[in-house]
Amino acid sequence: MQTLSVIVPCYNEEAVIQEFYNRTKKVLDSLRNENIDAYIIFINDGSKDKTKYILNCIAAQDDHAQVIHFSRNFGHQPAVTAGLNNCESDMAVIIDSDLQDPPELIPELVKAHLENEASVVYCVRKMRKGETFFKKFTAKMFYKTMNELSEVEFPRDTGDFRLIDKKAIKAFNQLKEKGKYIRGLICWIGFKQIPFYYDRDERFAGETKYPLKNMLVFAKKALLYFSKKPLKVSVSLGFIAFFIGIAYALWVWLGSWLGYTGAITGWTSTIILIIFFGGVQLLTIGVLGEYIGVLFDEVKNRPEYIIEEKMNFKEENE
Ligand code: UDP
Ligand code: MG
Repeated sequence: MQTLSVIVPCYNEEAVIQEFYNRTKKVLDSLRNENIDAYIIFINDGSKDKTKYILNCIAAQDDHAQVIHFSRNFGHQPAVTAGLNNCESDMAVIIDSDLQDPPELIPELVKAHLENEASVVYCVRKMRKGETFFKKFTAKMFYKTMNELSEVEFPRDTGDFRLIDKKAIKAFNQLKEKGKYIRGLICWIGFKQIPFYYDRDERFAGETKYPLKNMLVFAKKALLYFSKKPLKVSVSLGFIAFFIGIAYALWVWLGSWLGYTGAITGWTSTIILIIFFGGVQLLTIGVLGEYIGVLFDEVKNRPEYIIEEKMNFKEENE
């Protein structure tokens, strides 16, 4: 019998978590007929509402519902990482708890995985119901820029909703970087990866935990971890500024020599140059600083998350 774990990060999801469990449970029970023993790993990412209580109740009556409580809120990506680190099944499905990604698709993902012998089945959104034009537009721009800049090609309209098999989980768990951009890393590890097209639903209840500010932080992380191009842009900017400087110096020199410019007495030109070069310098130092920030975080080597309690896992002293 093969085993499957459904990995579900949850942060303040009291409004949806029970419904998510009920719907997913039904789907997983049906998988048992196909000889697949399925578990759910809920990662409670430091919720401040009743999520913890609800998850404890679920875990108490279902030994296939495993729960990891974090000591505080560490974020969506660390929560998914914890799920993958603690998954012992032959395959895992990463899914959000807000029912935007329908759990009813899990059997189809399993089927696609088995039929195509693919290590990763990533879900591509055909329709994105209930998402604003702004969110869709920024997402589109983001993927376009990322693909221009990064070392690996990211599939568009793809979130973390996907199935990954044991081989890919093992490879993922070997990655040591602390700031994980999971969908990028799963692309990066390779193996056979196939798309699966679906319509994304609206959030069942509750609010998005990814307002614009968090989206920007997320996008910045993706960019910094997967691309060195911004550094190269700094170099190019430096060169451009350098040549502009030389050209301007020539112009002033020739001009004063041939007598067609009054640049020597000019105040505006000096100010413009100071602002321009000051801007270029601050910008490039800023970009450098961002990369140093990433290095700083990585060098500290802190764990990505801290677990307060684990329920229904095999090992002792949970
Ligand atoms: N989430 C989490 N930690 C956080 C923020 C979000 O575990 O700090 C979970 C959340 O409970 C949900 C998933 O990540 O299951 C996706 O979040 P959300 O639906 O708010 O994001 P959106 O779909 O709007 O991008
Ligand atoms: Mg959502």
